[in-house]
Order: sequence, then structure tokens, then C-alpha cells
Amino acid sequence: MILIFFGPPGAGKGTQAKIISEYYDIPHLSTGDILRKKLLEKDILSIKLKNIIDGGKLVSDEIINQIILQRLKESDCSNGFILDGYPRTKMQADFLNSYFQDTNLEIDNIIEISLSHKDIKKRIKSRSTIENRKDDKENVISIRLKKYLSETKPLFQYYRDKKRDKYNIVDGNQNIEKITSDILDLLKNDDI
Ligand code: AMP
Repeated sequence: MILIFFGPPGAGKGTQAKIISEYYDIPHLSTGDILRKKLLEKDILSIKLKNIIDGGKLVSDEIINQIILQRLKESDCSNGFILDGYPRTKMQADFLNSYFQDTNLEIDNIIEISLSHKDIKKRIKSRSTIENRKDDKENVISIRLKKYLSETKPLFQYYRDKKRDKYNIVDGNQNIEKITSDILDLLKNDDI
């Protein structure tokens, strides 16, 4: 099963992707998590990456595409995977499309967790206190939101047009359990 989770920062897509990945026993590929792990290596690349991430900007498509390509080739992805935080730009979506074409793979479902602009800000603020992420600080939040609106949100429409029957929207303004059960319901309905 190949799933893509979409949603604004703070919508809870990481939390949901993790739960669903455990449920179906497929890896949860979060480019944010992969990058944060990479920062611990403290080499020249990771110092550059840290500045980009802490500043709320996007890592270049070339770097992120290579990171995800390497990860997709690992053996645990052979039964499927969940993409969380990727693709985030049209160039990444094009790269992913050509990877799927080359490997004869197909996206089974795209799940957008929707959240209003007001709720996005509220969620990120409370996450910044809990997780202490540098990129969740007030001034960085607005940069991340701008990037999200200009680069990532247009992709939702792109995928809605391209994969109409596989595109699902779940209301992110609910508790974690309800969002999970909405996602599982739609995935199970799709299996029938
Ligand atoms: P996230 O945990 O998904 O919010 O990602 C944290 C940060 O990692 C983002 O603000 C970006 O700086 C970087 N990042 C994660 N995924 C991507 C991606 N697909 N393309 C570019 N940058 C990314």
C-alpha cells in the first residue's frame, strides 16, 4: 500500500502517518524526520541543512529527491510506504511520478488532513512548547506557512485533478482518535 499524507504544518499528518504505518506495518517516511536525524551528523551538509530548516525554508529539490530516492530503494519499502512531508513542490511531485513510472508503482491513496489557517497557527504554537522545535517559533512559523501556501498547497489541486478517485480529505480539527478512525474507514472502504 502506497499512501501520501498531505496537510499544512501542524495538521497532525506526522502523528497520523505514524499510527497508520504501524497499523498496516509499512514504513513511515517523513522527510522532516529524516532531515532532523541527518542534522545530528554535524558534517558540512548538515550545517547547511540546519540553517535552512531552522529558518523555515525548504531544502533544495535536488537534495531532498536524492534523500527520498535512497530511502525508497531500501528493502522495507517493498510492501509499500507512507510519504509524509514529501512531495512538497511541483518538482518533487514530478520526480516522484517518474520514479513510480520507472518502478511500475502506483499511489493507492492520498489523504489530505485539512485545517483552517487560524487552527494551523494555534496548533504550531502549542507544538513549539511541547516539542521545542526551533522552526516552530513565531517568526519562523509565518515563513513556513508562506512556503506551504506558495509551494505545497498548489500540489493538492494538482493531485486532486490527477488522482481524483484516490484523493481524500479528512477534517483535521478533531481529536487524534477520530482522525485515525476516519482515515482507516476510508482506506478500508477503498479495499472493498
Ligand atoms: P516537517 O517536519 O515535515 O515540517 O519538515 C521540517 C523542515 O524540513 C521543513 O520546514 C523543511 O525545511 C524541511 N523539509 C522537510 N521535507 C521537505 C521537502 N519535501 N522539501 C523541502 N524541504 C523539506
